[in-house]
Amino acid sequence: MPFFVVTIALPVPLRRNFDYLPVPGESRDIYQPGQRIKAEFGRQLLTGIVLTTTEQTDVPVDKLKPLLERLDDQPLIDSSTLALCQWLSGYYHHSLGEVLELALPTMLRRGCKLTEADEKVWLRQADAPTAQLKGTKQQSLWQLFQQQSQWPHKELTSRGYTLAQLKRLTELNLIQEGEQLPLPAIAEQSSQPLPLNSEQQKAVDAIRAHLGSFKPCLLEGVTGSGKTEVYLQLIAEALANKKQVLVLVPEIGLTPQTVGRFRARFNVPVALLHSGLNDRERLQGWRQCKEGNARILIGTRSAIFTPLPDLGLIILDEEHDASFKQQDGLRYSARDFALVRGHKAQVPVVLGSATPALETLHNALTGKYLHLKLLRRAGNAKPPAMKLHSILHQPLSAGFAQPVLAKMQQHLRNGKQVLVFINRRGFAPLLACQQCGWMAECRRCDARLTLHQHPAHLHCHHCDFQQGIPAHCPECHSPNIEAVGQGTERIEQQLEQLFPNFPIRRVDRDSVRTKQAFDALFDEIHNGGPCILVGTQMLAKGHHFPDVTMVTVLDSDAGLFSADFRGMEHSAQLILQVAGRAGRAESPGEVWIQTLYADHPQLNLLLDSGYHALALSILQERNAQQLPPYSYMALLRAECEDRHLAQQFLQQARGFIQELQRQHHQFHDHQGLKLQQEGVNLLGPFPAIMERRAGRFRHQLQLYAKERASLHRVAATLVQFLEQQKGFNKVRWHLDIDPLDTL
Ligand code: ADP
Ligand code: ZN
Ligand code: ZN
Repeated sequence: MPFFVVTIALPVPLRRNFDYLPVPGESRDIYQPGQRIKAEFGRQLLTGIVLTTTEQTDVPVDKLKPLLERLDDQPLIDSSTLALCQWLSGYYHHSLGEVLELALPTMLRRGCKLTEADEKVWLRQADAPTAQLKGTKQQSLWQLFQQQSQWPHKELTSRGYTLAQLKRLTELNLIQEGEQLPLPAIAEQSSQPLPLNSEQQKAVDAIRAHLGSFKPCLLEGVTGSGKTEVYLQLIAEALANKKQVLVLVPEIGLTPQTVGRFRARFNVPVALLHSGLNDRERLQGWRQCKEGNARILIGTRSAIFTPLPDLGLIILDEEHDASFKQQDGLRYSARDFALVRGHKAQVPVVLGSATPALETLHNALTGKYLHLKLLRRAGNAKPPAMKLHSILHQPLSAGFAQPVLAKMQQHLRNGKQVLVFINRRGFAPLLACQQCGWMAECRRCDARLTLHQHPAHLHCHHCDFQQGIPAHCPECHSPNIEAVGQGTERIEQQLEQLFPNFPIRRVDRDSVRTKQAFDALFDEIHNGGPCILVGTQMLAKGHHFPDVTMVTVLDSDAGLFSADFRGMEHSAQLILQVAGRAGRAESPGEVWIQTLYADHPQLNLLLDSGYHALALSILQERNAQQLPPYSYMALLRAECEDRHLAQQFLQQARGFIQELQRQHHQFHDHQGLKLQQEGVNLLGPFPAIMERRAGRFRHQLQLYAKERASLHRVAATLVQFLEQQKGFNKVRWHLDIDPLDTL
């Protein structure tokens, strides 16, 4: 047999591929890109992916090891997914093996068969005899099989039938046991397309014209403007063309309400992929999509990797949402990936938001994206009235200004609901000694401990460190230690005293721990009556609360003065998102924002002229400072228990980049070429805002470039260099391309 090696990708951090001999006895034509194989790597046994076969290898022949096993006859990863993963690996300077690992459901990564998650079903025998059945249970069971030839085991047991009854029918040759991929659920179609208003119609027409080719589209529409109806009518069009549709939503936005709206409109199988599923369910959803059984896939970030052979349209709702960027491992942006995927598949990509990310808005304003606007609320709903309420030199009770409390009272008396937004959970952000000024701090982070009362303890929100509440100050032994400031728990407690006649419901990560609890609470709020909802971001996103007519924003000030250049952008997005919860149905809503900075120019611009006007003003600033989207950015982060080692590591990186650029300049001067690109500008290294977290010192080096290509040229060489650095075993580092924050 002629000599050849199999080049594979392995899920290890090293940014390279590996050559192995084939499984003994297997010929070259058996191997196809995208198959899984098992290989020994050091002392580990890993599942890798075949990339290609070749006669040439740099590995000495006596060092080559054979593959242990080939797991698939057909490629499991199709060629277009493989190409996309290769692109991701290049763009994020990340190991291809680890990227491919992300593209597969956990069970397949572990080497399971594609059919492993199939479920037990019972099938009617084709030539079933006419039977005389004794028990009524058996008769009714047999009747089911006459209505429908196949039933999932789970479905039958949930209807109260027992294994013994099923076995009895099997003995009589009426039914038999089998295994099958469960069919994705189809709901009863119960909603009809709404007649569109002119803005919606314009958006649908414009995007529809691009079905069948790649076109990025920004659908910028205020909350309640009917973006979802636009999505639904585009989806209807794509389904009619026999296409599959991918809908990506933020982590927190995948509610039964959202899913219900899609399921109620279309008579097709809808698959869901999100973090609440177990491995089996994930594999089932993935395969239903891959085999074309599911026609709509609704999922969170990682659903972007799911194979959809008939993909016809990609929709990304709330495209500005931070959950679309993965914050560890492969730090990819599902939004940016969606655009690359849409380009490869030649389908339109619709990015929807009331508050688009400035990168997206910039692309729309410069004509790279089709820009569609929905400026009015759909139906009869009116936009909420927004008001800044200065609390400078004002007496507050429980953190609320008197006129705000009076307003809340009024809404509650009218039978409506009030939402109080404070983005801080726990009882109080600080526990301090009134005698000497001591503050409870985390031993492992540069951070204060948050005081919680349910259950009572001190908690670090950065490293999860927990301890009991001391009875005396550890410094001066005074018993006089007090909670300072407010979190959701404290507000809840104080509102109970201020509004004894109305229920108060707290919604945060501590009060609502599971998805079930979350859904149950929302049902309760919906069925509702007057109440006050106190909550964090969890309340802000994607929920439709028909009875909320007033929103109080308690602490928006912190975001106005963030050390990060995206601070104002993110604050504005959050404020509008919370505000959007008010008055979504028939009743008009109002939003009161308490602030110490009622004359803050950008905050006023936001309230007087809206997000778009604010966004334009921030874009001007970014342009002046050459910050993204007017430049491209990467962040090299390093952390280590030894501060100097982290600093030294980044200094090495800085030195390397400078030397690289010097050589690049020299080379170009020498050739008499004019340097096309301005190269990469460096900022740092310097400590992160919170330098120490969980016992490690965190430092960063910022890379900026006018041209994306120069940034990536430098980044590619840099990671190769850093991978080979000796003496930094204890330093954890990563390169974050297009980072979402610099904190
Ligand atoms: P968005 O996603 O932009 O926040 P939604 O799609 O949730 O807005 O729409 C808000 C409300 O307006 C929903 O109750 C929806 O049913 C309703 N709606 C949307 N389009 C129309 C329309 N053309 N006519 C009447 N009501 C509409
Ligand atoms: Zn003290
Ligand atoms: Zn901590």
